[in-house]
Amino acid sequence: MADDHPGDAMYNNILHVGFDDTDSSSGMCTTYVCAVVLERLKACGMTIRGEARLIRLNPFAPYKTRGNGAVSFSVVLDGAGVVERVKKIVLATVEEYSQMDDPSTNPGVVFYHGPITEDLQEYSLRTVQSMVTLEEAEKLAQKIEAEVFKYKNGRGVIGALAAIGCPLIDKTYELIAYREVHNYGKVRRVNEDSVRLMDRATYPSTFDNLYEDHITITPHTPCPVLYGIRGESKEAVYRAHNLVKSEEPIERFMVFLSNQHTDMHLQNTDGIAGMEQYQCYRVAGEVNSTPYVIEGGHVIFNLKDKSGEIECAAYEPTKGFRDTVRGLAPGDDLIVYGGIGDKGTLNVEKIQILHLEPQYRYLNPRCKCGKRMKSAGKDKGYKCPRCSDRITDVPKEKMEVQRNLEKGYYEVPPSARRHLSKPLIRIQRHK
Ligand code: ATP
Repeated sequence: MADDHPGDAMYNNILHVGFDDTDSSSGMCTTYVCAVVLERLKACGMTIRGEARLIRLNPFAPYKTRGNGAVSFSVVLDGAGVVERVKKIVLATVEEYSQMDDPSTNPGVVFYHGPITEDLQEYSLRTVQSMVTLEEAEKLAQKIEAEVFKYKNGRGVIGALAAIGCPLIDKTYELIAYREVHNYGKVRRVNEDSVRLMDRATYPSTFDNLYEDHITITPHTPCPVLYGIRGESKEAVYRAHNLVKSEEPIERFMVFLSNQHTDMHLQNTDGIAGMEQYQCYRVAGEVNSTPYVIEGGHVIFNLKDKSGEIECAAYEPTKGFRDTVRGLAPGDDLIVYGGIGDKGTLNVEKIQILHLEPQYRYLNPRCKCGKRMKSAGKDKGYKCPRCSDRITDVPKEKMEVQRNLEKGYYEVPPSARRHLSKPLIRIQRHK
């Protein structure tokens, strides 16, 4: 049992609530709906156990709007009629804020009064790492006697149930500050120097605040989020928030407990041949082609193991990480972290170089006079351009090429990092 979930002994007085798929690419955010719900529940005297949870699901799920996030929280049942009152407030708020007119918005809400079973945890993990169906989610909900509410096709039930059941062994926190409605869609006004100062004062307890001096805590979508600060503890994200100076009013803010930046989306695999589209992996293999650049600036190489081969890509938004990938060479051994998207290509998030295969250049031999010789024509040996001496049957000189890489980990910049991807600074801290 993960330590953020009430133990079995406590479940009798806890109601778990999860919901998902309330937003669309043109607006709203499921975390904002959660913040409003919690405000309303607290205003009615309800007690929330611990933090609300922002659970990121499979980043390659095709129906996602942006970051494939779902939310859940637990209400303490400390009086008569609490369950009915919670349901009424949650459903009314989800109905009020969901972008129902958007065909891709299909909200789902789940209420669950019971222990977080192994089945439920296993289902959640699959929803983070691979694809599940609505039928599967509904069947499990029925089995554990969770109550499900579907709007339109109700696909959000998948994420809602996963958010309730997701075990959090490794975890992070995100403090999200929200904008006033009249500012939605406008340029975000956050004092950049204050973010740099905040980063200096709180990194690495908070992380991914900056990339090469540009601030990365503000999104670029028309959603209600002004900024999000990610960190290792509640205290760290609060401290950072107090250091950031917003130049527009903050309507509200809230801290979520999360599986962000834990690598929870990555599954180990026995072989490349068994890897499937829309799933995320940690895979070992050998570079099997010289990396090359395609239109758009994306860098491509092939990775092979005994079972098969897969095309890997470091896409243009991964910026300087592409230089690392371009420096790879056939024979290098790697562990690649990433997921398989629409085109069957493995999107690389991180690599660990285990072995750098020596690379060689072959040069024409030198003449007695010291000058490097030129080819005298096919099968005609070499000729010195200075003294015109000729030689045949002399092998080329083998020279090892200096590699500009070292063994170790390399990652994409914060601006291109997936929500679930674990930054190296967290990996190092955990060591
Ligand atoms: P935001 O991050 O802004 O909240 P989003 O990216 O989370 O938006 P949603 O609008 O929630 O996107 O849409 C994702 C949909 O895909 C939801 O209906 C969710 O239930 C479903 N879904 C999530 N993960 C999976 C999965 N692994 N398999 C199948 N469906 C999934």
